[in-house]
Amino acid sequence: MLQAKHIVVATGSKVRLLPIPGAEHMITSDELLSERELPSSVIFVGGGVISLEFGHVYARAGTAVSVLEALPQLLPAMDSDAVAQLHAESERIGIQIRTDVKVRRIEQVGHRLRVVFTDGDIEQALEADRVVNGVGRIANVDALDLAAGRVEQVNGCIVIDRYLRSASNPQVHVCGDAVPVSPQLSPLATYEGEIVGRNIVNGPRHAPDYAGIATSVYTVPSLAAVGLTENAARQTGSAIDVHVNDMRDWFSAQSYAETVAWSKIIVDRASDLILGAHFVGHAGQELINVFGLAIKFGITAKQLRDNVYAYPTFSADIKHMLGHA
Ligand SMILES: Cc1cc2nc3c(=O)[nH]c(=O)nc-3n(C[C@H](O)[C@H](O)[C@H](O)COP(=O)(O)OP(=O)(O)OC[C@H]3O[C@@H](n4cnc5c(N)ncnc54)[C@H](O)[C@@H]3O)c2cc1C
Repeated sequence: MLQAKHIVVATGSKVRLLPIPGAEHMITSDELLSERELPSSVIFVGGGVISLEFGHVYARAGTAVSVLEALPQLLPAMDSDAVAQLHAESERIGIQIRTDVKVRRIEQVGHRLRVVFTDGDIEQALEADRVVNGVGRIANVDALDLAAGRVEQVNGCIVIDRYLRSASNPQVHVCGDAVPVSPQLSPLATYEGEIVGRNIVNGPRHAPDYAGIATSVYTVPSLAAVGLTENAARQTGSAIDVHVNDMRDWFSAQSYAETVAWSKIIVDRASDLILGAHFVGHAGQELINVFGLAIKFGITAKQLRDNVYAYPTFSADIKHMLGHA
């Protein structure tokens, strides 16, 4: 046994279990990364980041890939127009996508697996060599005896205050994927770990600021995003300008023979501040950090337009992306 004045829960995340018959036939992303042979067909249950990233790898390697998503849209938290671009491109490279379907059970059929799902009232099935659990990951805290430390949890999540401490026992700190309210991202885990460290040393003075934290889905092309989706921006009730560009015929996109080069940038009309940015292709996984910086430090759309960028670069297109409301 170890005793300490402060305890940090940094136990990461674990795969969300799907309560359906035959769920034990599914492999996780951990097992998938240890595969020694290329399967001829794979079904991903769930249309999130892990399914799309691995799905693109498999599809480009020649595997038949299917994705089954329960909600009407892949990547439900992302901007729907950006997702539509990635959806179409994923189908173009041969991935079969079914949204709005509910997976009911998984059966072993010889050496293969059959996934039975319903589309409305109609039962259908797909067969493949592998079925991957891609329904998401949850905070990995339920195996800890949290009650012994007076650490309150609700629905398997530790209840925390703004300083990333247990709301019921402030000597217990939480960071990384074990935090229930922030995205499960590696740089965020490091950021939250630093905040926890500083709060332990200095007392509870540091709270995380999640504004301007960018994320990417590393498909080819990638989908990158920061800030609000258009839907969320409209729900704020403020007047917004939405700049959407299909850049496939721009010089930079042509140079790289991009099949998708798409951006959406959302600007608050009154303040000219960037509210959100979304890219598919066009080095969006790099450009998105410029918009993260703008959101975090209040750089306006005019300032981004007025900047002089190295040319030829994808960044040089930023001023044109913001050109027309
Ligand atoms: C397939 C996959 C791809 C990803 N790709 C990206 C990406 O491209 N970019 C990105 O930003 N993020 C990515 N992530 C997310 C990223 O890996 C996590 O956000 C990050 O690792 C979280 O760090 P952490 O320290 O909170 O948890 P972890 O890195 O998971 O570390 C937690 C550690 O705690 C240990 N542990 C658990 N329970 C106990 C216990 N009871 N006692 C002792 N030790 C315990 C675990 O074994 C583990 O070593 C990906 C995740 C997955 C699964």
